[in-house]
Amino acid sequence: MPQRYVKYLISMIFVALTTVACSSSPTGRSQVILKSDQDLAVESARQFAEMKANMPLETDRAKIDYIHCVAQAVVMQLEPEFRDLDWEMAVFQSDSVNAFAMPGGKIGVMTGILKAAQNQDQLAAVIGHEIAHVTARHANERASRGSFSNVGVQVAAVLLGGGHQGATYSAYEALQAGAALGIMLPFSRSQESEADVIGLAYMARAGFDPRESVPLWQNMEGEAGEAPAEILSTHPSSETRIDQLVGEFGAALKLYNEAKEAGRTPNCVLE
Ligand SMILES: [Zn+2]
Repeated sequence: MPQRYVKYLISMIFVALTTVACSSSPTGRSQVILKSDQDLAVESARQFAEMKANMPLETDRAKIDYIHCVAQAVVMQLEPEFRDLDWEMAVFQSDSVNAFAMPGGKIGVMTGILKAAQNQDQLAAVIGHEIAHVTARHANERASRGSFSNVGVQVAAVLLGGGHQGATYSAYEALQAGAALGIMLPFSRSQESEADVIGLAYMARAGFDPRESVPLWQNMEGEAGEAPAEILSTHPSSETRIDQLVGEFGAALKLYNEAKEAGRTPNCVLE
């Protein structure tokens, strides 16, 4: 093979490799994606099953139905490729003011979140935010950054366990493998901001009032107490965050009004 072809070939391989590694997030931020989404989804499903087996599940049907009602309304309005994921939700009985979503479409909500999310719109703000982490492939991006310290695992355990001895230990164990893959570690600030923006659009499209995101995050901050919620751990300061949300209200209210006109007016109530 003539040498110039070899050179050409090598440069094309280089281009192909860098193209695979660098992609762009839904808001146009450049991301490095090295892991297989499929692998992460499989590991998430395993972790999720382990958490369900090790952590107390909520038994109050009214709470479960209420949270499902909100989550389902949001999921139904996702882009088809995400709406069609195998979504599964678990409601954990825990005072922790927390929620999470994992690759492949697993949503976990701690009942403690209801202290901060005081109506369906506020709950949709939390769930929309968590789902946005999944659709923007934040866990893959984080896992692609490579090695993780033990500190990360401990942070995850603190957030999930709250003050309850038994739950802390099993949650810690359940999290170790997931942390190794970067599934359960805190997200970066830019990822958190991005999840806020995308989540706001999701909730609005489902017919939830996006303006309720502001009191929600204020309540979250008030409720966080000694054990900071996952959602606040790496978050922009509440002032920055609220400024950003308010800056998105124009676009979000347009989606909200369109949803209402289309008859998407969810009525999820906690009896
Ligand atoms: Zn987040």
